[in-house]
Parts: sequence; C-alpha cells; structure tokens
Amino acid sequence: MPEGTILPSCRLCGGPGTVWFERPRQVLRCQSCTALYASTDQRVQEFTEAYYRGGVYSDYLADEPAIRRTAAARLRRLERRVAGRTLLDVGCATGFFLEAARARAWTATGVDVSRYATDVARGRGCDALTGSIDQAVPSGRRFAVVTLWDTIEHLDDVKATLAVARELLLPGGILALSTGDAGSVFARATGAHWRLLQDPTHRVFFTEQALRRLLERVGFRVAEVSRRGKWVSTAMILHHSSIGAAAHLARWCVRARVNPMVYVNLGDVMTVISVPA
Ligand SMILES: [Zn+2]
Repeated sequence: MPEGTILPSCRLCGGPGTVWFERPRQVLRCQSCTALYASTDQRVQEFTEAYYRGGVYSDYLADEPAIRRTAAARLRRLERRVAGRTLLDVGCATGFFLEAARARAWTATGVDVSRYATDVARGRGCDALTGSIDQAVPSGRRFAVVTLWDTIEHLDDVKATLAVARELLLPGGILALSTGDAGSVFARATGAHWRLLQDPTHRVFFTEQALRRLLERVGFRVAEVSRRGKWVSTAMILHHSSIGAAAHLARWCVRARVNPMVYVNLGDVMTVISVPA
C-alpha cells in the first residue's frame, strides 16, 4: 500500500487500524477494540453451490452427520438455559441445525442470504427464509433463542444484526453465537496462516475483548464464554489441510462414504451466550 494511504477504520467500532498482515490479503487490527478486519470490502458475496461444495467446504452436505452432532450438543446446552422452544438460526445455511432442533421438539426458523442454501433447507422441509435478518424475518415474530453459529464474521454490519437479534428475543430469551477467537493461542501461533483467515468471505475476526465490547454496546450482557470444539468429518479436515493430494483424498472420502467424524477443539472458537441487559 503506498505511503500516505488512509487505512479503513474498524468495521466494528470505527477505531483506527494498523496493518497486521499483508497476505493472503490485507488484514488490519483495530487499535481501539483489538478486532482484526479485512481492509477490502468484498461486497459481492455469492454463497452459491460452489461455496458449499468444493470451495471453502469440501462438500457441506456430506458433513451433515458431524454438523448435526455438534448441533445436538449445542441444543442440549440451550435447553438448560431457556424454557421456550422457539428459535431463529441466523446464517442457517442448508438447515442442519434447524433439523437437529426440530428433532428435539423445537419450533425452528432459519434465515440466510444464500439462495442456494435456503432452497436446499426448504427442500428438506425446514422453515428457512432467504435474505438478511432485518429484511426477511416477518415483523412481530419473537423467539426464545436467536443463534448465529459461525456467522458474524461474514456480516457487513455485525452491530446492526445483533441489534435486530435483540429486538427479536422474547422476554427471558438468549442470544447464542460462535465465532473465531483471533486472540487465541492457536490464532496467534499460526498468524496469517490461521485457518479462519483463509475463507475470503470472513471480514472480521474478533478477540474476546472486541466481542464483549460490541455485545455490550448493543445492549447485551455476556453470560458465558467458552471455547468448545466441534465434530468434523475426515473429508473436511483433509480439505483444509495443506498436505499434497489431500483435496483429492477428501473427494474420495465423500464419494466412497468413508468419512468418519472426529471431535476437534483447537481452542480458537468462542461460544458466547448473552442476554439482554
Ligand atoms: Zn474496533
């Protein structure tokens, strides 16, 4: 970047940023809230079939058993916290979390900007809306739980989305989300090679401090922060590894249906439960 170029300010708080990495793309670090954010505003975010199959994911659909298992564990923890059984899953993708919720007697609605993913979800019988949370969710709907699993890092305006999520909660409701922890040991050790920096649709990377600050600014109180792992398929691990021929092997796993799941916890993902303050 030429000397004298003004760096874009923080996507979360508007604070000044300094260059943190130049490759694989320029990522800045906010001097005020400590979040990392991509400097370029890639507004064209097409979450088409290519994104879910062979892009960032080896084959998202083939990962269903692992995603459903993680979903069931998340739901069990939510059930201990709230009496209501209605939820809105923001960034619902192909609806695997919605299906897991339905299997546990929840009334679950999803919303996602991806036309492809929500078409798949509806084809599987899910109540999935296409669009953003502020535009697609009918006014007057309220939920005991709003979830955003690995979603906020993709958003244009995280603050606005969280503010809408707060409005959609029933009294006593909770917000549950997960996102990468840019301040974790694993993220700091891997630097510019950190796995969550590799998805070009990720725009912002939170530290716990940055996330807490943002949630408080939109009127939440953080009730719990944990660093849990998730179940992932062998194909997904291979797809994300940098081992030669791994992508080929990942495709073979999916085709041959030899795709066992393992529980992975690198300590670099935060799960945060918040309640309206
Ligand atoms: Zn900031």
